[in-house]
Amino acid sequence: MKVLVTGGAGFIGSHLCERLLAAGHSVWALDNLDPFYDPEIKRGNLREITRISDRFHFVQGDITEPEPLRRLCHEVRFDQVVHLAARAGVRPSLEQPALYQRVNVEGTVHVLEAARESGVRKLVLASSSSVYGCNAKVPFAEDDPLTAPISPYAASKIACEALGHVYHHVYGLDVVMLRFFTVYGPRQRPDLAIHKFARLIREGRPVPVYGDGSSARDYTFITDILDGIEACMRQDFGFEIFNLGDSRPVRLDRLIELLEQALGRPAQRRWLPAQPGDVPITYADIRKAAARLGYQPRVPLEEGIRHFVAWLDRASPPPGPGSGGSSS
Ligand code: NAD
Repeated sequence: MKVLVTGGAGFIGSHLCERLLAAGHSVWALDNLDPFYDPEIKRGNLREITRISDRFHFVQGDITEPEPLRRLCHEVRFDQVVHLAARAGVRPSLEQPALYQRVNVEGTVHVLEAARESGVRKLVLASSSSVYGCNAKVPFAEDDPLTAPISPYAASKIACEALGHVYHHVYGLDVVMLRFFTVYGPRQRPDLAIHKFARLIREGRPVPVYGDGSSARDYTFITDILDGIEACMRQDFGFEIFNLGDSRPVRLDRLIELLEQALGRPAQRRWLPAQPGDVPITYADIRKAAARLGYQPRVPLEEGIRHFVAWLDRASPPPGPGSGGSSS
């Protein structure tokens, strides 16, 4: 199968490209290597994928520019598209709300249009647990009303879900929206808690703890997310929305303890007020994904954090005594 992965140089996208190549597919990653975090990290991800297979193709391009996207789709004639490219991040979306709408909403329209026009039959699109906002009921289920988003990022993902439905209803595309719950693992985005905190603890610098430590997240290991995406790609659904989470939320103070254990170092905590845009808890009801996708998260947080720390030590070894902090 020929698959387009938008955002394929990023955290989830680069892992997905590798997984699809291993399954024998030909994969095109479209990514503009945007500067939300260091593009060199994304180039490093691409180098790792390129080493694996000659069925991998990287196209540097921007989903907000419809023409090159359309040309690529017409030239290659993809069987499926997994659309992951986005401006991610809740707090930064409050600073650049219009940019988030342009990339996430307008960009998604261009991806859907290019797919439709070129005869793609199926798309899997990244949504987010943030669409639930301050949902009073836990765990969050796919049919809960989405009336309480609290960030421009969350609002942009709700719009993407609505657009996915439009393209299914009007054009008959098979569209699956996946609400990912805080994904972590090797190559995790450096702005996200586990990665950010691990680096700070290693360097002996204070970890910012927003709120009283009781906020909880449903941390989900990357390989479990990939299992869910692959399961969606194997079947036809018409239009469906699935939560992909671990379904075992963990408090922020517990997360920091687990990182201290895995890193073998104590954390210094810097207590700060809760941030606007942050929800108190995310907690996925995964019964629908279990029933329809056979989805079952396999990697508990304790184990996933050990994998993450092992990767971090390989990817950027901690400065040893007398090493001057350099590494080759
Ligand atoms: P990421 O930032 O590592 O990956 C996104 C990629 O999209 C990046 O490589 C970036 O360069 C690319 N991109 C951004 N704007 C683009 C544009 N205009 N044109 C082309 N490419 C562009 O983020 P990620 O964590 O891998 O997230 C992937 C998807 O999953 C996103 O849609 C995100 O909103 C969603 N998501 C992630 C999480 C999580 O915990 N990581 C949770 C919920 C949803």
